[in-house]
Amino acid sequence: MLIIMGANTHENANLQVMNMLEQAGITGYPVNSGKRRLICLGQNLPEQLHENLLELSTVEKIMPIKTPYKLASREYRPQNSRVVVGNRVSVGDGNFVVMAGPCTIESEEQLFSTAAAVKKAGAHILRGGAFKPRTSPYSFQGMGIEGLRLLRQAGNHFDLPVITEVMETAYVEDVAFYSDIIQIGARNMQNFPLLREVGRTGKAVMLKRGPSATLEEWLMAAEYVMATGNEQVILCERGIKSFDPATRNCLDLGGVVAVQEKTHLPIIIDPSHATGKRSLVPPLALAAAAAGTAGIMLECHPKPEVALCDGPQSLTFDQLYRLLQTVRQVVQALNIEEAAEFEELKVGA
Ligand code: PEP
Ligand code: MN
Repeated sequence: MLIIMGANTHENANLQVMNMLEQAGITGYPVNSGKRRLICLGQNLPEQLHENLLELSTVEKIMPIKTPYKLASREYRPQNSRVVVGNRVSVGDGNFVVMAGPCTIESEEQLFSTAAAVKKAGAHILRGGAFKPRTSPYSFQGMGIEGLRLLRQAGNHFDLPVITEVMETAYVEDVAFYSDIIQIGARNMQNFPLLREVGRTGKAVMLKRGPSATLEEWLMAAEYVMATGNEQVILCERGIKSFDPATRNCLDLGGVVAVQEKTHLPIIIDPSHATGKRSLVPPLALAAAAAGTAGIMLECHPKPEVALCDGPQSLTFDQLYRLLQTVRQVVQALNIEEAAEFEELKVGA
């Protein structure tokens, strides 16, 4: 259930509804979503209370949303959402966005040469990890704050918005300061305190699907971010666990198409982590474009053979250029606008 308060209602109107709910033993969760005051409920309303609430002039409507995720659901918002990044790139709602960059930031030289290639290839957003979730504690863990600074400098230099991962609440403020999109990695998809904390920054958040998360669990994780009032959420499918070690993970394209029916949030595909293998990345990137997703995230490196992290799945610059040329053809064939066309777009436009 979702109680939608009228436009421009005062805080006191919320309190009145909250009191009525409380008297019936029901907990309401108020959310200031955009310009709207909402009250989310995890249960149905008794008939009489439903009627009494609707009689209040301050209550606009009550939506009986069936799914456990409310704000992320298409029942709540039938049209595709659009997330505006770095004041100019729009993700979702009919355009196709390419995010690209190294798995991990290794040095100024490596990052700047990659950013130059990313720009030249026509990608729209620069990625780069500063805090890396590594399976082994003995693997390179990322450059930390110094990496964030380099990423911001490279983004400014090449006029590209930037995205980077945060793994713990202690660094949310720093990552929000230096980046345009905060990435929640697959391993942290259900780290609920972290989801709340990134939500509260009001920054765009890209939420990767956990390797064994169902679509519903993924959307419930998005709901955690949205319940803080932050609607700027992008989903990212990066492959789920399968029985077959032939690919690093299994890109769940069917799940992506299914989740697009359930949510209005934009969905990005990450074929790099899904496959773990450079040669498999281009076909799946094209499949993602053909499936009508909001975009792709690709790893690339000046010398993948010496990359400190995920070299085998990183594209060379040459491969990145060629792939993006073909991606453009698919996008054009589907008549989807490119994100670059939104360059003039301003937040809230
Ligand atoms: C990444 O994008 O750098 C990353 C670590 O991905 P994932 O969380 O999907 O493994
Ligand atoms: Mn990686």
